[in-house]
Amino acid sequence: HAKGAGKNGYSFFEQSMNTNARNQLQLLHDLRQALDAGELELHYQPKFAAADAQRVIGAEALLRWQHPRRGLLMPDQFIALAEKTGLIIPIGNWVLNEACRQMSRWYAEGRDDWRVAVNLSALQFCHAGLIDSVRHALERHALPANCLTLEITETTAMQDADASLAILRKLAEMGVDLSIDDFGTGYSSLLYLKRLPANELKIDRGFVRDLEHDSDDAAIISAIVALGQALDLRIVAEGVETESQQAFLTGLGCDSLQGFLFGKPMPAEQFMVGVEALA
Ligand code: C2E
Ligand code: MG
Ligand code: MG
Ligand code: MG
Repeated sequence: HAKGAGKNGYSFFEQSMNTNARNQLQLLHDLRQALDAGELELHYQPKFAAADAQRVIGAEALLRWQHPRRGLLMPDQFIALAEKTGLIIPIGNWVLNEACRQMSRWYAEGRDDWRVAVNLSALQFCHAGLIDSVRHALERHALPANCLTLEITETTAMQDADASLAILRKLAEMGVDLSIDDFGTGYSSLLYLKRLPANELKIDRGFVRDLEHDSDDAAIISAIVALGQALDLRIVAEGVETESQQAFLTGLGCDSLQGFLFGKPMPAEQFMVGVEALA
């Protein structure tokens, strides 16, 4: 046994690994039931037109888990586990359906120019059932396809470039809006990017965070905006927290902005209270 082994013969490292594995097992057990128990919910974060920061253009749906004992859990506490075990497929289908249900309500209330954005994990994106799941969710709620944005990360889109291209083309043919999330963190070749049937690039929050103090980040953002404009893509910046970030991004020509400066993710009812207060 390793030096420093405890009385029972296990090192601290092994003990903590066991505890961690036990916690993960418990969490997995809970996650298996979460969907049926109605513990999952979507929060919505507003996206605003950069040119008119009073105008909401839609929302990103972000998953939350109301855990019976541990309280509200964020995606980074359970998405990886869901992905590893395949549970992300039924969960992801629930998210798609729920986001389309909410968007169809908004549509009926006259918000017919909004889009709801749904995040897809890598496994969901490669899963054979994806196209049917998207089609069913749209049909079930009689929602026009262009009211739904699917966000896939640059890294996911790059994993198997040819396969991704085929899937994205099918979605684009259906009329679904496509966004490349966390853009700038992966290694897209410009040639590949040019072939992607995407509609939007979403600048990663990591570049926005320090742009006032880090001239490299500011330069990278300028380059991404120029690239997006050249390829005729909409540019969204995520993680906008300050007015000077807003001014910089708007000045560069970003189309839309999202971040705590404008609104945090929140339940749909609260979201609409905020929207109505703007009007
Ligand atoms: P993402 O798609 O890049 O989502 C943006 C994340 O940044 C969200 O975190 C959002 O709350 C946070 N954010 C937005 N504005 C600001 C800001 O101004 N400041 C800061 N500090 N943070 C901001 P969240 O909700 O914790 O989600 C994290 C990630 O989990 C998402 O990153 C996405 O990759 C994943 N995720 C969320 N919901 C789903 C889902 O339904 N399915 C899948 N597969 N993944 C999801
Ligand atoms: Mg996203
Ligand atoms: Mg993102
Ligand atoms: Mg991100």
